[in-house]
Amino acid sequence: MGRRAENTLAALLLVAGCTSSTGGGASGTGGGAGTGGGAATAPIVLSEDGGWCWFESPRALFQGTRLIIGSVASGWNNAARKGDIETIVHDLATGTNTAFELHNQLELDDHDSPAFLIRPDGRFVAMYAKHGTENHFYYRLSNANNPTTWAAEQTFTPTTATQLTYSNLFLLTAENNRVYDFYRGLDASYKPSYAYSDDLGQTWRSGNIVINVPSTGTLQRPYARYVSNGTDTVIVRCSIGRYGDLTDLQRDDTDLTSMAVEELTSYAGFRGSPIESRVSRWGGGLPQYAVGHLDRVASIRTAVAAVPGLAVCGASYDGVGIPACIATGRRAAADVMVGRQ
Ligand SMILES: Cc1cc2nc3c(=O)[nH]c(=O)nc-3n(C[C@H](O)[C@H](O)[C@H](O)COP(=O)(O)OP(=O)(O)OC[C@H]3O[C@@H](n4cnc5c(N)ncnc54)[C@H](O)[C@@H]3O)c2cc1C
Repeated sequence: MGRRAENTLAALLLVAGCTSSTGGGASGTGGGAGTGGGAATAPIVLSEDGGWCWFESPRALFQGTRLIIGSVASGWNNAARKGDIETIVHDLATGTNTAFELHNQLELDDHDSPAFLIRPDGRFVAMYAKHGTENHFYYRLSNANNPTTWAAEQTFTPTTATQLTYSNLFLLTAENNRVYDFYRGLDASYKPSYAYSDDLGQTWRSGNIVINVPSTGTLQRPYARYVSNGTDTVIVRCSIGRYGDLTDLQRDDTDLTSMAVEELTSYAGFRGSPIESRVSRWGGGLPQYAVGHLDRVASIRTAVAAVPGLAVCGASYDGVGIPACIATGRRAAADVMVGRQ
């Protein structure tokens, strides 16, 4: 991997192999236009038919008072929109929405939602691709600094063998404003890979695979999330240990960091030492449901129900994901209130 590629890795927050979300971004990435606390107001509908994929970024940007989001339409109420790749510009100052169709019916798949980049001259780059069935990505540049009108669509093929999906766009000022697209699938590898542009997204060149974990039998495919500081620092998140592995949890922070660096060096070609590291320990953080779990939970709930004002909730019962935990919390709160009436 060349010097340039090293710099790239040294400039991105790359979160691989986990499911926690990382937001932020130099250009002001974000979610919806909620109004926060206070009195409830009607939600602002940005698109009545839009989906997007978590492995694309940034999927939403702020520019001045404008919120720019991309999505794939499902066509649920208008079949002509099925699989449309769209940009919606919501002006927070005027409350107006302006939609633009980047590609007509590319494919009905959340992998196809576009990623955006704001160039230093204010123009936008939008990039999108099918779900691994083509060897090229599609991209368009906005006219001037107006994301409501866009120049003609172009394509780039890293290699003919490539089968790509996911788009993640970043501009690194410390590399003469080189623009990177991190995607999956150079040479049909299913591995995090990158292409780059030295003319602010007008033309592209193929880079390399970023995390080349070995594939044994089936194609291993690391899932990566990327965040850039826009200049020159990388943060890589690694997970060590698994259920039943108590040995690794006994290692001290220095030892764990060394292990992570060794594996990144071996699998991803990282060089040098980290400039900073932080270890968070989650021992016992994910309950394991053994055979008979449902019966145990049922008997716990029966016993708890016999005690007025007592309820249980959390990851130990109906699922470890946060939505499941919220559901158990709501159920527990309702049970406690019933006990009080
Ligand atoms: C590293 C990691 C990444 C994860 N990523 C995701 C993800 O991306 N998406 C997803 O859906 N789920 C994810 N999960 C799972 C999910 O976060 C957890 O299952 C969920 O947060 C558990 O919620 P809980 O309320 O049961 O427990 P917790 O969130 O652990 O809350 C328990 C609380 O009780 C407090 N507490 C403990 N003992 C006491 C005491 N004696 N007195 C007072 N307070 C006490 C603790 O400090 C804590 O605040 C992840 C879990 C881990 C460990």
